[in-house]
Amino acid sequence: MNPLPPQTPREKLEAWLRYYDDLNLGEFYTMRRASGTRPSGRAAEMAPSAPTPLPKAPPAVVAIPSAPPKAVAPAPPVLPVLDAPSLFEAIDRVEGDTLERIRQDLGDCTRCRLHKQRHNIVFGQGNARAELVFVGEGPGHDEDMQGLAFVGRAGKLLTQMIEAMGLTRESVYICNVVKCRPPENRKPEDDEMATCSPFLFRQLDVIKPKAVVCLGATAAQALLKTKDSISRFRGVWFDYRGSKLLATYHPAYLLRNPNAKPDVWKDLQKVMALLGLKASKPS
Ligand code: URA
Repeated sequence: MNPLPPQTPREKLEAWLRYYDDLNLGEFYTMRRASGTRPSGRAAEMAPSAPTPLPKAPPAVVAIPSAPPKAVAPAPPVLPVLDAPSLFEAIDRVEGDTLERIRQDLGDCTRCRLHKQRHNIVFGQGNARAELVFVGEGPGHDEDMQGLAFVGRAGKLLTQMIEAMGLTRESVYICNVVKCRPPENRKPEDDEMATCSPFLFRQLDVIKPKAVVCLGATAAQALLKTKDSISRFRGVWFDYRGSKLLATYHPAYLLRNPNAKPDVWKDLQKVMALLGLKASKPS
């Protein structure tokens, strides 16, 4: 005869823990941060809609929608709580991961159609311990030929932006949502981004930067899982996988619209403030 279904909250919790244990996820509940000081990365990424409502004068940090509200007065924890990722982040994370291992796992990738026309995989490059990571959309022609991110015209402008922040390209990390050039520089398709982005997530988890700057709508929308226009959330901080994330316009957009440069400079100054940097010169 089947035992009675769990009745009390404690019995229900125990049943869930047994279930997670069966899935080999036993660590998750016992190790997870209790206070909910940040939205759980993957859970936050899975938020169905754009960050709303967006304030006119944005607060310093905006939580990604659907994030669990902050506990006001935390109840005594049922189980011991340690600092660890949420269930969804934990699923993404690879124990003892390194950039070299991620590159190896990527291999000579044929997981999506973008491999067919590429010359080189553009994995990303820079400082593996960078405090700042820039994420673009995907390689263009120059990047595809050289196997390096942001080395074309837009890349030269990005270099100027980085140097205006008082940094060097070597001190930051630069990568893209997709690692192969989309034909004719078209926007990567959703399925291409979904296939490739787990490698990006692993890169971010290994580097653990203080700040992630999304360059352009595609990168921002892919990471924040929103279809909202970048103009609605540009320059606003989000909590993201243990880092702060901010979206700004893509350097290629700035090449076409130089009058947007002051907006981008304002965004970069927010990043500099977070990193404790002083401007060397405005861009
Ligand atoms: N644009 C991007 O989004 N990424 C690059 O690497 C180059 C141009």
